[in-house]
This record gives sequence, structure tokens and C-alpha cells, in this order.
Amino acid sequence: MGGDRQSLAAPQTSPGALQLEFVSRNYMVGKNLVKALQPTNLVIEQGDFVAIMGHSGSGKTTLLNILGLLDVQSDGTYSVHGTDTAQLSQVERARLRRDTFGFVFQNFNLLERYTVLQNIELALMYQKVSAKAARQLAYDLLRQLGLSGKAEARPHQLSGGQAQRIAIARALINNPPIVLADEPTGNLDIEAANEVIGLFKALHAKGTTIVMVTHSSEVARSASRIVHMQSGRVISNEAVS
Ligand code: ADP
Ligand code: MG
Repeated sequence: MGGDRQSLAAPQTSPGALQLEFVSRNYMVGKNLVKALQPTNLVIEQGDFVAIMGHSGSGKTTLLNILGLLDVQSDGTYSVHGTDTAQLSQVERARLRRDTFGFVFQNFNLLERYTVLQNIELALMYQKVSAKAARQLAYDLLRQLGLSGKAEARPHQLSGGQAQRIAIARALINNPPIVLADEPTGNLDIEAANEVIGLFKALHAKGTTIVMVTHSSEVARSASRIVHMQSGRVISNEAVS
């Protein structure tokens, strides 16, 4: 079963914020079954800062996408704050995703035809927030990130580090309790990576739960727990000392 240890800190009575029980994901590629994620048990506690490491193809993105409700497991049970996600309708699932997770990707995924400010505001499109309030929230976040001067810029005018900070602002505008980041520093130089990691640390200090895929053991040391994956399995899950 992946050989992972569930968090010992978890009180018996309270389920973790995110809980995988024997969750697996298979893909059919032509006639071949690819076992991207082997049956996995994993608990992410509220307030955790977990780094997921492993070689390319080891199942990190597959795991993160299931955690973020962007993908559905082939088998097993995935619960978010104690709710078995298999019980949810499509609408409930989308709502839970929107209210629970902020996403950060390696390639920033900013939309080039919009300004920086609009990119952040767009994240509120499906919320009951007025256009004026959305603009104010977006400006506030930009100011906090020291990027108010970039409000009217287009994404291509930003450095990688600035683009990723904007993408993080977009992920945070909903005030999500959990941020999922897939190799967020993968395209950044050391200086920009440090800035982004600094942001994650500050977020974590304020109580946000963070799950971050990374190739860098240096980046992973910022986390409080490191999960190692290999061939679709969690092979270790240990606190950072
Ligand atoms: P990582 O993020 O660790 O590089 P992934 O989770 O992306 O790994 O992929 C794990 C395995 O699943 C790989 O063998 C990959 O080729 C396969 N895989 C991932 N997504 C798909 C897909 N949509 N269709 C088929 N195979 C996939
Ligand atoms: Mg990946």
C-alpha cells in the first residue's frame, strides 16, 4: 500500500483535511493500462505544509489533481473535510473545489489577452462578488505582493518570478484554506524561486494548508513534511526536522 505512514499527529476522532484511502488512478493508453497512482493512503492535516517529491512520471501530478478535485480516482475513497467526494453531485464537487482550493502551476497559466489585474479578478468570476469588490480585492493582493505597479501590464511583460506571484495572488483571491502547487518554482531562477517560497511560508504561517510538488530538495526543506513518490506509490512520508 505504498508503504506510507499516516500522520501520527492525527487525533483519532477528527479526519484529516484531506484523506485518501486506497486511492488509485489508472489510465488506458491504447490497450495498455497505466497505473499512474497505485492504491494510496495519505492524510493531509489542516495547517500542513507538504512537499511531494519524486522523479518525473512517479505520479505527483496525478495525486495533486485528485486532491484538488481536478481528476477523479479510479478506485478508493477520497474525503475532503470528512466528506466522501464520491457522494457529491457535479455541482457540489465544483463548489467544493472552488471553496477549498487555490491552484498554482509551473507555467503560471496567466491569460495573455488580459491585464495582470484582470487575470486576478477573473478568479472571482463565479463568486457572488461585485465587479467593484473584485477589483478592490485584486488591488489589495497586488499591493501586498509589492506588484501594484504591474496592474495594467500584460503577463508577457512580467519576469517569471512576478508572473508566479501574480498566479499566486489569483489562487489566493478566494481565500482558499488549501493551496495546491505543481512545481511552482520549476521555471524560476533561484532568486525568484526564493521569493515564491517565501510567499508560501508566509501563507503557511497564517494557517493556509499547502501541498506543493517540487523537484528541488532545497525547496522541499521549506515544508514541514516531505512525501516521496516512486512508480505511482508513496514510498515515504516524513516530518522535516
Ligand atoms: P509526475 O507528475 O510525477 O511527473 P504524472 O502524475 O504526470 O507524474 O504521471 C504519472 C504516470 O501516469 C506517467 O507514467 C504518465 O505518463 C501517466 N499519465 C499521466 N497522465 C496521463 C493521462 N492523461 N493519460 C495517460 N497516462 C497518463
Ligand atoms: Mg507532474
